[in-house]
Amino acid sequence: MAEALAPATSDPLQTALAATGLDLGLVTDPDQLARFTTDATRRVAATPSLVIRPADTAGVSAALRLCQEAGRRVVLQGGLTGLSGGARVQPGEVVLSLERMTAIGPVDDLAAQIEVGAGATLQQVQEAAAASGLIFGVDLGARGSATIGGMIATNAGGIRVLRYGMMRAQVAGIEAVLADGTVITAMKGLEKDNAGPDLRQLFIGSEGTLGVVTRALLRLHPAPTVETNALCAVDSVEAAQALLRHLRARLGPLLSAYEGIWPEVYEGACALTCNPPLPTGAGLYVLTEIQGMREILQEDAFEAALIEAYEAGLCRDVVVSQSARDHDRLWALREACVDFTFSLGNLLPHDLSLPARALPAFLAEARTRLAEVDPQAGVYIYGHLGDGNLHYIVKTEARTEVSAALNGLAARLGGSITAEHGVGQDKAPYLSMVRSEQERLVMTRLKAAMDPAELLNAGRVLG
Ligand SMILES: Cc1cc2nc3c(=O)[nH]c(=O)nc-3n(C[C@H](O)[C@H](O)[C@H](O)COP(=O)(O)OP(=O)(O)OC[C@H]3O[C@@H](n4cnc5c(N)ncnc54)[C@H](O)[C@@H]3O)c2cc1C
Repeated sequence: MAEALAPATSDPLQTALAATGLDLGLVTDPDQLARFTTDATRRVAATPSLVIRPADTAGVSAALRLCQEAGRRVVLQGGLTGLSGGARVQPGEVVLSLERMTAIGPVDDLAAQIEVGAGATLQQVQEAAAASGLIFGVDLGARGSATIGGMIATNAGGIRVLRYGMMRAQVAGIEAVLADGTVITAMKGLEKDNAGPDLRQLFIGSEGTLGVVTRALLRLHPAPTVETNALCAVDSVEAAQALLRHLRARLGPLLSAYEGIWPEVYEGACALTCNPPLPTGAGLYVLTEIQGMREILQEDAFEAALIEAYEAGLCRDVVVSQSARDHDRLWALREACVDFTFSLGNLLPHDLSLPARALPAFLAEARTRLAEVDPQAGVYIYGHLGDGNLHYIVKTEARTEVSAALNGLAARLGGSITAEHGVGQDKAPYLSMVRSEQERLVMTRLKAAMDPAELLNAGRVLG
């Protein structure tokens, strides 16, 4: 992209930034500023007057120091695939984008780690790992744009949490810059280091409110030589949970994914991608997967476990992928769930987390509550069922009432208002439903200690 040369300006911050002589990639051209306004929520946002796109950590540090001196609020942006409005611009905010910090280090195949710049995309990391016969444990549909910095900031989950955990489990080292420009480098990558509190954790899942992630050391895993998935039709969520229990018992750590797709979404996603792999009309569809090593994996273990499940009445129909093409086709169907719901436009998303035992009650009660709040509401559900994570999406005009009802119900049943997308701006009003006064007080003190002027991602998470 052609760089916008910063024109003569009346903005003292812009003048000070330009005077550093650093490569800060300033953008001020109104035509170019438009792409930095909002995230994947596509909700209306303010247009920033200035975007800073540093080339390196020194640039991030200098820029933040100058923003602090000028008392200017800063919003951090990665790939803008976030679904909670965390990166969406508020009036008066300067954007700090990590999009140019895309360096990807060599893979250390002894430590099974890779060093990456915060602006590297998930897909770039996946490709670098694959070139060394390794894989990165987190995968999600927005892989082409989501950045490692944004994924760390939101503690992203995705489709293989069951097997590898969330982003937190993949981070061996972090470099971050505080609001005043202080650089914290915790990049040793030691598996064991108990020398005081682990400062890396402060930046994982705090959604850019405590500092800017600039670099990370990520853990990698051996690439599986066997990868097979299957689509199962089941009667109910209880049946899906019984099937999960059965597959876990039979397959243990081989089980790498367990995704749920409810009928309305299944039909919509099939219409976008392929002929339905299984007939429509089931209560619920489950896409499950194993990953393992051919040498130690009993060849038909997956099919045998699924046949047992079928014979025991846990699933009413099943199709197992027979080739890499089949495998990809089933995953394409899962990814089309997102495309389908996005295509319906202006839907109200929820990213709920429920204790496994509360899931059936939540689904039943949610329907009852919705019928009370908005009898016309349309409901579209899919998600990471094996993790108790539902993407519960509602077509409604009563947006505030519906969100309050669903988030409140999840909270009452011991769940969370956000399993993986984060609080951002959009869920900040509901934080008190799931975090106690004492917890919020500690969060406020942490913020005050690390960003006393509240310039970094202000209004996100704590509101
Ligand atoms: C099609 C699709 C599928 C998705 N699937 C999943 C999924 O399965 N699981 C999941 O967890 N999420 C999913 N997401 C949501 C999204 O991809 C993740 O939240 C991702 O982590 C956001 O990364 P990003 O680089 O786009 O961050 P952005 O959207 O740019 O920012 C997200 C938040 O992180 C902050 N931030 C960004 N970069 C930094 C940084 N370097 N340092 C500190 N803070 C920073 C921002 O200020 C903001 O608060 C999906 C999104 C889409 C569009």
